[in-house]
Amino acid sequence: LEAHFSVIEKEGGSQNGLIAVLHDVTEQERIEEERREFVANVSHELRTPLTSMKSYLEALADGAVQDAELAPRFIDVTQKETERMIRLVNDLLQLSKMDSKDYNMNFSFIDLTKFVPQIMERFEMLTKNESIHFQHKLPNKEMYIYGDRDKLTQLMDNILSNAVKYSPQGGTITCSIKEEKERVIVSIKDEGVGIPKENIPHIFDRFYRVDKARSRNLGGTGLGLAIAKEIVLAHGGSVWVSSDWGKGTVISFALPYDEAVKE
Ligand code: ADP
Repeated sequence: LEAHFSVIEKEGGSQNGLIAVLHDVTEQERIEEERREFVANVSHELRTPLTSMKSYLEALADGAVQDAELAPRFIDVTQKETERMIRLVNDLLQLSKMDSKDYNMNFSFIDLTKFVPQIMERFEMLTKNESIHFQHKLPNKEMYIYGDRDKLTQLMDNILSNAVKYSPQGGTITCSIKEEKERVIVSIKDEGVGIPKENIPHIFDRFYRVDKARSRNLGGTGLGLAIAKEIVLAHGGSVWVSSDWGKGTVISFALPYDEAVKE
């Protein structure tokens, strides 16, 4: 805590008061520290793909470009790294927009029991070759919530793409919707690697990954769940995870679902 004192004096010079202004510097310091860490993370995340691209390009320039076997492989790596950097910058832009509240939510009524299967169908198409099974457990009725369709699509995309990334071949991903008193809960369950208990509290943090190398190899930016969390918060909801290391993960989010919307 930081204190500033000023003495209040009357015209004649006699003191008749004291003003004390207290600042919580620990909070300021924490924010400053977080900001520093964030900048360090961003720089590191950008430097890693750039360094790797540089060495592949150098190898190509040094002659690999003539090698019919090596050239396409090296070009493929630099292409993948470029794509990941673009994803990273897009994710960063989106987070910074959401932080500065510099965005408009485009609210409309969305029937979750239609919306969720549509997104799953798209993922089923995208992962046709990975033999991952998709199933859903949905209430047999319309369930309207009030939300931003694009943002909720991205929320589902981020969670489902993790479920796919961390699933084994032949795994099943199950999406369920459950109605509670004043909220609706959407859960996405996978049979993948799971998350160790001690890592669970951090997985919505920016750039946090349980296994950095694995996430990078799978093309991850470490920002998917941080964005998911911001989207859920912007809808007045909450998001959480439960997971068994080695068995699978369930990511759930709750959105407000009140009487007025139900009707
Ligand atoms: P990434 O781009 O690395 O996937 P995310 O923010 O989406 O970043 O996720 C953060 C971390 O949480 C991941 O690196 C991974 O370790 C863990 N994680 C997220 N979803 C799952 C899942 N379905 N199964 C196992 N681990 C997961």
